[in-house]
Amino acid sequence: MEKIYLDNNATTAVKPEVLDAMLPYFREQFGNPSSVHWAGRMVSGAIEKAREQVAELINCSAAEVIFLSCGSEGDNYAIKGTADALKNKGNHIITTAVEHPAVLETCEALEKDGFEVTYLKVDHDGMLDLQELETAITDKTILISVMWANNETGNIFPIKEIGEIAKKHKVRFHTDAVQAVGKIPVDVREANVDMAVISGHKIGAPKGVGAMYLRRGTKISRFMHGGHQERNRRAGTHNVAGIVGLGVACELALQQLDENYTYVRKLRDKLEKGILESIPDVKLNGHPNADLRLPNTLNVSFNFIEGESLLLFFDMKGIAASSGSACTSGSLEPSHVMGAMGVDIVLAHSSTRFSLSSDNSEAEIDFVLQELPPIVQRLREMSPLYNREDPTPLSCDECRMVHRA
Ligand SMILES: *Cc1c(COP(=O)(O)O)cnc(C)c1O
Repeated sequence: MEKIYLDNNATTAVKPEVLDAMLPYFREQFGNPSSVHWAGRMVSGAIEKAREQVAELINCSAAEVIFLSCGSEGDNYAIKGTADALKNKGNHIITTAVEHPAVLETCEALEKDGFEVTYLKVDHDGMLDLQELETAITDKTILISVMWANNETGNIFPIKEIGEIAKKHKVRFHTDAVQAVGKIPVDVREANVDMAVISGHKIGAPKGVGAMYLRRGTKISRFMHGGHQERNRRAGTHNVAGIVGLGVACELALQQLDENYTYVRKLRDKLEKGILESIPDVKLNGHPNADLRLPNTLNVSFNFIEGESLLLFFDMKGIAASSGSACTSGSLEPSHVMGAMGVDIVLAHSSTRFSLSSDNSEAEIDFVLQELPPIVQRLREMSPLYNREDPTPLSCDECRMVHRA
């Protein structure tokens, strides 16, 4: 069976050039970069080179890059570190309802500690109202945290405009840029961002490494206590091989940015057009203007079908995609992103995300477009929702009952 991987927003394969660059750092160059002897010196240079490679991709200086263990750590550090450092100045944080859990749950945790959080709403297209953002700012606001691009819909937020608002009101601005880097230009200086987070495994580097841009002079409390690595900001012996891999992945991403954008977007557009034309009752989740979405992401709802069943049927054909609903142990929670967009509950349950990479081929997209319509038709015929006489949308409870049945 052919294996087609269309879940690159969940994780990516390590690029061969990245793996090759990493391998020496497991055996020959195994030193601890904090050591003063030859073994340590051999690897400290490699870390500084990777720092420059990251800095170049996002346009900051190498001294503003901190290596850490993953995107989630970066988001936690940026938000909690700011909350602690600025707690005497204010206790209000502004974020959006559609952030990654690494941001949302961190904010929710801070609410328990007495911080107040405004979760900005999004419209049906999943976009923000910048007026609402500006109105939400008070003299107690210490942080604005808005992701550069959404992992579920691929929507790209107007980070530059938000950066201007933040600057005007002198509020610190953090962005989770995990999904944006490598796919679209990310320039932290131009966007007036104070903190930005990226993750290795979303851009062809391994899992377990990430980086944060921290604008020079930005006060932040220590998050990880211990050694004096990363200028005292992030304790813990460096993941040398991972950091080297992240650096090379950033260099490749920069070199191939335009080429990959064009290539991946063409495949995604073909998939999008093919699905919308060949299958009835499909809804696009995300901004209708494809320029305002990541080039690799397509999120659609196949009405009447549960996303999870669709994924199982795809899987039998070797196709890996992902669904917006987390259907675990009888609890049916549709994705918070679909919920925030006001997507009807049945449609939210049928939301499916295809996220491509430059490793995908046109033949793979053709295969998906050929396999998809009969699967959808078959599942619809089995669906109690499809055969309902009354086609009005179900309430949450009704939907749960039907799905349990
Ligand atoms: C994957 C992801 C993260 C988390 O990154 P990890 O390295 O897996 O911890 C954070 N934000 C977004 C938008 C993501 O897609």
